[in-house]
Amino acid sequence: MKSPNALLSATGTTIFTVMSALAARHDAINLGQGFPDTDGPADVVRAAADALLDGRNQYPPMTGLAELREAVAAANARFYGLDVDPGAEVVVTSGATEGITACLMALLDPGDEVVLIEPLYDTYLPVVRLLGAVPRLVRLQPPGWELPRAELAAAFGPKTKAILFNTPMNPTGKVFTAAELAFIADLLVRHDAYAVCDEVYEHLTYDGWRHIPLMSLPGMRARCLRIGSAGKTFSLTGWKVGYITAGAALATVAAKAHQNLTFTTPPNLQRAVALGLAKDDAYFAGLAGALAARRDQLAEGLARIGFGVLPVQGSYFITADFAPLGFTGDDAAFCRHITEAAGVTAIPVSAFYEGAAPDHYARFAFCKRPEVLDAALERLAAHFAAAGPGRLTGRARSA
Ligand code: PMP
Ligand code: GLN
Repeated sequence: MKSPNALLSATGTTIFTVMSALAARHDAINLGQGFPDTDGPADVVRAAADALLDGRNQYPPMTGLAELREAVAAANARFYGLDVDPGAEVVVTSGATEGITACLMALLDPGDEVVLIEPLYDTYLPVVRLLGAVPRLVRLQPPGWELPRAELAAAFGPKTKAILFNTPMNPTGKVFTAAELAFIADLLVRHDAYAVCDEVYEHLTYDGWRHIPLMSLPGMRARCLRIGSAGKTFSLTGWKVGYITAGAALATVAAKAHQNLTFTTPPNLQRAVALGLAKDDAYFAGLAGALAARRDQLAEGLARIGFGVLPVQGSYFITADFAPLGFTGDDAAFCRHITEAAGVTAIPVSAFYEGAAPDHYARFAFCKRPEVLDAALERLAAHFAAAGPGRLTGRARSA
């Protein structure tokens, strides 16, 4: 028989699924895959339940319920001063995952080049390649995750159609600064390119760091497609409701992609997300405040155990260097080891790179209840205390 699609056949199962399955098998506390362990706001959940029962169960409009598109436009104005036409410049998608794919489909023709910044989210590269486009990868390196400006500029060329990047950034916790965004904006103008902006963690920033959409910079309004996620903004990751904001010309084409991917997104969930986006500023500040406290709890605990904990400005994630603990295997071996032997799961940071990558960092999710974080820290502390400094033998490096 003929082979199915070569690229997808060669694509492995996502690291998030692999590590969650391993966690379940070993009854480990799962600080790997990034999902909160408590539901988001009760009134938003209630609104979805009500909407299921009051007849909002048939196909909604293709680009999204009017009330959600209006809420997305209003949130753009409230948080970023962006003036968005809800009728023409918003497309609701089934999660940011679909939104990212729809934006790439909207922009790319075979042979176009796309600049991507590693470490990167695991759907980006397969989708770019499935579309026949050519990725140009630029790397951020721990511990500083600085934007290598010369390399970024060199990655742009006559064939560049777009950059795709994520801020606040998974897994680094980096929030791009106004100066970094201005540098990217300048490249887009010079090369007549677009930006797909994965901003799913837009409301999860800490210590006074503020998310700045590239779209809000001068000259960027018509060059950017920016993507948000109700899953992250309302701690309801299973809902898979995302939203694209883009100028009308691009939004029209992104809607064509959505039309061919899923066509619509569940109307009951859309209704609830519309109510959620209208929540007062205290909700959004409270969400970030609560997560900042969890970040501090996990960061301090990991540092006490001996990890080298990197700073986190946004997102759900801490990156921690395990080399100081004396483990000499690579990050995949380390994450397997702590799952099996300590009962705590993390994600190897090398999974966010293609090819040879930094291999002594693990990503821990802190979007968990304080008692769960404490239990995980106790398990790790007990494990590494028993192993003792210098006695923790590195296991075989993983293939
Ligand atoms: N982008 C990044 C960087 C993410 O971490 C996630 C989380 N799953 C997504 C996109 C996808 O968001 P959604 O669940 O809304 O599809
Ligand atoms: N975004 C989540 C993470 O980075 C997981 C999403 C998924 O499992 N695909 O952990």
